[in-house]
Amino acid sequence: MSLRHRVLELAQDYRRAHAPLTPERLAGGIGARLAYTRLPEGQFGTFLPEKKLILIEQTSPPKRQRFTLAHEVMHFLIQHDEDLLSELHETHTGQALERQLEALCNLGAAEMLLPGEAVEAALGQKGQTPRLIPELAERYQVSEEVAIIALAERGPIPSLVLMAGSRPLRVYFSAHHPQLEGRLARGMGFHRNDPLVVAAETGLPQHIQTRLPNHSGLYSLEAYPKGKRVYAVYKRLQP
Ligand SMILES: [Zn+2]
Repeated sequence: MSLRHRVLELAQDYRRAHAPLTPERLAGGIGARLAYTRLPEGQFGTFLPEKKLILIEQTSPPKRQRFTLAHEVMHFLIQHDEDLLSELHETHTGQALERQLEALCNLGAAEMLLPGEAVEAALGQKGQTPRLIPELAERYQVSEEVAIIALAERGPIPSLVLMAGSRPLRVYFSAHHPQLEGRLARGMGFHRNDPLVVAAETGLPQHIQTRLPNHSGLYSLEAYPKGKRVYAVYKRLQP
């Protein structure tokens, strides 16, 4: 079984054992307490194992706080799963290991809060569209990050899923299918002719074949502007 499958199973077991996953129950499941405080810039949460205490950034929106909390719980669960941990260390080192661990914690956190079956059902009904990001987030009361991770993981065609916002437009959050290398860093900007910028400025959805900024290969892009944000799915057309 792949690392990702094992992480999904860990998350599913945790959800079943501790539902409903209120913040207190999420932290309590690993015997931790929860406190809301100010953390250094760019940090949303942290776990202090010696104190059995999870700290969450108090100014984050509540849904984002819940996602961060689930992420910290995943760190704990992975840390205490010897098989998973040794496989992770066998297959990755250095920075790649760090990145992989963060991605796995995100994946597990998303699965805890938004069950895979719900995502599969929505994909079956509406296809792999960025419209599902705000829809799933609203319907299941999860942060949009959670919906993005779940769609990138479960979309039938390997794709990169993201949301962007602000002016000039920049990436808020992105996730990609395990078979894709494409990673767009948080804060990355776009060329002024980029279809995402066009979607943001005109308020019109864009369907276009394009390249992913900083990556090779051709993608089929659907960009969906809503409110102050643009949601996008880049589906890979060529390996
Ligand atoms: Zn982390």
